[in-house]
Amino acid sequence: MKQYKNFIDGKLMDSKSGRTFENRNPANWGEIVGVFPKSNVEDLNMAVEVAKKAYQKWRAVPWPARSEIMRKVAEIMIAKKEELSQLMTREMGKVIKETRGDTQEGIDTALYASIEGRKHYGYTLPSELPNKSCKTIREPLGVWGLITPWNFPIAIPTWKIFPCLLSGNTAVIKPATYTPACVGALAQIFQEAGLPAGVLNVVYGGGSEVGEAILNHPDIVGVSFTGSSDIGKRIGEVCGKTLKRCSLELGGKNGQVVLKDANLELALEGVLWGAFGTTGQRCTATSRLILEAPIYDKFIDMLKVRVEALKLGNGLNEDIDVGPLVSESQRESIHGYVEIGKKDGARMVTGGELYEQGECEKGWFYKPTIFVDVLPTMRIAQEEIFGPVLSVLKAKDFNEAISILNNTIYGLSSAIYTCDLNLAHKAIELAETGIVYINAPTIGAECHLPFGGMKNTGNGHREGGWTAYEIFTEIKTVYIDYSGSLQKAQIDT
Ligand code: NAD
Ligand code: MN
Repeated sequence: MKQYKNFIDGKLMDSKSGRTFENRNPANWGEIVGVFPKSNVEDLNMAVEVAKKAYQKWRAVPWPARSEIMRKVAEIMIAKKEELSQLMTREMGKVIKETRGDTQEGIDTALYASIEGRKHYGYTLPSELPNKSCKTIREPLGVWGLITPWNFPIAIPTWKIFPCLLSGNTAVIKPATYTPACVGALAQIFQEAGLPAGVLNVVYGGGSEVGEAILNHPDIVGVSFTGSSDIGKRIGEVCGKTLKRCSLELGGKNGQVVLKDANLELALEGVLWGAFGTTGQRCTATSRLILEAPIYDKFIDMLKVRVEALKLGNGLNEDIDVGPLVSESQRESIHGYVEIGKKDGARMVTGGELYEQGECEKGWFYKPTIFVDVLPTMRIAQEEIFGPVLSVLKAKDFNEAISILNNTIYGLSSAIYTCDLNLAHKAIELAETGIVYINAPTIGAECHLPFGGMKNTGNGHREGGWTAYEIFTEIKTVYIDYSGSLQKAQIDT
């Protein structure tokens, strides 16, 4: 069992509070992955102070020099990929194939940053006047607070850390308490790669203490948050009071539509992966399956067989398909939704109970569950469940399928399976989601493309790709007059 410490100014430090919390393995709750400081506002204040000081030097380092450190981080991550992935499976529960993917996403994001540092474009534009040039440049803002969830313990922190730091900002990150170890390992890698002390600081602890302290700190200029919509609203509200910049990546209630002409085998693989990968604990998880009436019964029969064959267990074993839920309370919440589904009149065709066979008794396993005959108004069709529970809805035709797809407060990801080119294009136009997949599941983001959602899924920003750099930089507009005389802009003459 490892004792972790906060990482502040390049040094490992205990919390001033003297308190700690345990990070446990959800597949084997008796196993403690690490003990972490349960920090308080004093720890956070110290981290912000050093980050503020480090900012003055870091912002002056040229972009390509900063990106060179990101490349070194990528190299170390590649060398440690298996170690990081195993640590992630132990602290979070998802299967090793997926944690390797999560780590790889972090590596790719680092490599993207290492290139972005040499192509940090601005605009040059013509002036209304002679002998005058105009351009825009992008600059860092200062100290950021980064607050992350537990379901992607490396990918999501790196989506924030790399663009934030490459842009010349400094940061304090507070990872989720279920999965703090991966961020601890990342901080160590940044130090090995030569990141100056104070540029990246890690403060472990709870949302109501360290999280709130981040939101309320006057020297934090921006908050980048990924998590639930409820907490996201709170964050937007507090940041609004002091006009902090704030980017929010929140919940989803993603749907996969299968039209009657679709390749059903392909659609089946898609929904299995989309709904039960990461045990349904992805913001982009397929939570609703919308089937066109003519294929409804047939597809459900095919699906039931495959879902019942999924193997549950400790994700460190290569042949396991589905790991545990992250915690006992998450499992209770999932089971609560199953009870709600039954009470509301949906028909459960498989699952619906805890899974405690053999070794699984030691963790928070739940049987993959399918509800059919779900109506769009039911709670299991509306609320984010965040577990291995799929709600199946019937649509009489394409138009009804799209209207069901859009009948949610969320707008992250959607998938449409069809071989009809016209319907595919129409669906792309009509889907109210930030990400649309055609003939691919609702999950599977690539790091060089914008990621984020519409409606209650966020506040209009996009992480990933070049758009992440828009979050973490400020635009400066520059006019250079080389006429040698006072030229008034058109507006003033
Ligand atoms: P959560 O909202 O409970 O917590 C997220 C983070 O916020 C944690 O680090 C937590 O400690 C912190 N926090 C809690 N209260 C806070 C407060 N008052 N002030 C500041 N920080 C606070 O979410 P979770 O359970 O960790 O993650 C699951 C949720 O995240 C789901 O809703 C999922 O859809 C969402 N998610 C969204 C995306 C996306 O990109 N859209 C990606 C992954 C997860
Ligand atoms: Mn854990």
